Amino acid sequence: MLAAREFDSRLLHGGKMAAIIVDIDDTLLRNGTQPIRSTIDWINEKAKDYTIIIVTGRPESTRERTVRALRDAGVRYSRLVMNTGSTRESNQFKAVAARRIKTQTRVAVAIDNDEGARNAYRSAGIKTASPTSLGETTLKFNMFWRL
Ligand SMILES: [Mg+2]
Repeated sequence: MLAAREFDSRLLHGGKMAAIIVDIDDTLLRNGTQPIRSTIDWINEKAKDYTIIIVTGRPESTRERTVRALRDAGVRYSRLVMNTGSTRESNQFKAVAARRIKTQTRVAVAIDNDEGARNAYRSAGIKTASPTSLGETTLKFNMFWRL
């Protein structure tokens, strides 16, 4: 068996961890508060080696209840970036947030259930994965995507 922590992104980046971006609705939680275990387990495992940055189209005004739902679901993360504009502009917001995050840290992958959101991340030069394909993603991750 390999050690649980066979890889540490900090070794490559002067002590700074690379980031993984992850969405909330229909990625980490469904129906607002119900945990999607497969994604949460994947993220919590990666949280050992990566800064987990949640980027959601949910408006800032829902921060308190969103933080509670994430805590109740046991999601490990470092930052919660919420939409300061209209929820209709969610993907535009995500594209802007992605570009800003990229100026601060390397981003290994963005996980989002929405194809439009994934396109927004790809337009910012970030690899993407759907939460339903995390099995394959783990393979690609281990082989090619480590930062
Ligand atoms: Mg979503």
